[in-house]
Amino acid sequence: MSEFNALVVTKDEESGKTNAGVTKLGLDDLPDGKVTVAVDYSTVNYKDGLCIGPGGGLVRNYPHVPGIDFAGTVESSEDDRYKPGDKVVLTGWRVGEAHWGGYSQKARVKADWLVPLPSGLDTRQAMAVGTAGFTAMLAVMALEDQGLGKGPVLVTGAAGGVGSVATAILANLGHEVAAVTGRPEQEDYLKSLGASRIVPREELTEVTRKPLEGEVWGGCVDAVGGAMLGRVLKQMEYGTSVAAIGLAGGAAIEGAMITPFILRGVNLLGIDSVMQPYENRLRAWERIAKDLPMDKLEAMVQPATLADLPQLGKDILGGQVKGRVVVDVNA
Ligand code: NDP
Repeated sequence: MSEFNALVVTKDEESGKTNAGVTKLGLDDLPDGKVTVAVDYSTVNYKDGLCIGPGGGLVRNYPHVPGIDFAGTVESSEDDRYKPGDKVVLTGWRVGEAHWGGYSQKARVKADWLVPLPSGLDTRQAMAVGTAGFTAMLAVMALEDQGLGKGPVLVTGAAGGVGSVATAILANLGHEVAAVTGRPEQEDYLKSLGASRIVPREELTEVTRKPLEGEVWGGCVDAVGGAMLGRVLKQMEYGTSVAAIGLAGGAAIEGAMITPFILRGVNLLGIDSVMQPYENRLRAWERIAKDLPMDKLEAMVQPATLADLPQLGKDILGGQVKGRVVVDVNA
């Protein structure tokens, strides 16, 4: 294949307006890197929504190929760790922001950024997990390291990508999961992933001045931030932890006080999927292959093509995407 398809975002320097469309590229167009990958699948994450649209400050170079993750087959490699035919996964390292990403039939990257596909997963399943699911696993591992309490584990933004995978993993590990959603129509979906209780979003978004509330949650994976994180911190059991992964509901921690930390020993754990060292990435992917039931993963998947991406970018920023969007770049 001398020419291949990619979703390319261009920017008009005068007006500052961006435009995204499927374009033909050649191998010589790809950025520097030791490994060239024939991409099978990529996904749509919240950051991709920002990068497909007006950029939100994330895109470092135009024209740009977004797509913060991909899975595929090594086509050529100048690095001893990989040979043609190897199946690989990429998440993080600012790929799809500062370096061209996975919305392309070919990608060229540093070998350090890849991990071998873990046994038990194919490239489509790996991207059904994608950055969102990888981050959910990192959050679960961080909660395990700190120790979980007796009460249910709360997952906020539960019908979204990170929330869906976190719900399925935690339930599969035997935890009682309470799923917070602003979409009541997703109750059956969340219960099918293993949530035992649905918490309406509005129950946790009112900002209160109370320094503490009753101890309810034995752990929390928080994809939302904002007022919800402020409330949840006050409802954590003594000595438990909140793994904060996202800010879909706001970048500040509204209404929070220092009391949960000093009177209840609550931990706020920041989870970053972007700069994870190789060993951590490998460990998380191996745990995903072991602890995430594949039938539940399948229930989360919405298929898409490169041409669907401009609309899907808008949908995910509007909180309208359910579960995981898997982009077949060759469809
Ligand atoms: P999604 O859009 O798939 O999910 C976010 C969910 O949050 C929505 O589905 C919705 O869930 C809920 N939500 C959206 N807006 C609001 C709001 N205003 N108030 C309360 N809840 C809201 O995104 P992802 O799951 O892919 O990512 C979630 C967050 O995590 C994003 O901020 C993303 O940037 C971040 N992220 C961080 C990573 C890291 O390394 N730390 C890696 C990946 C993502 P519902 O409809 O169920 O209420």
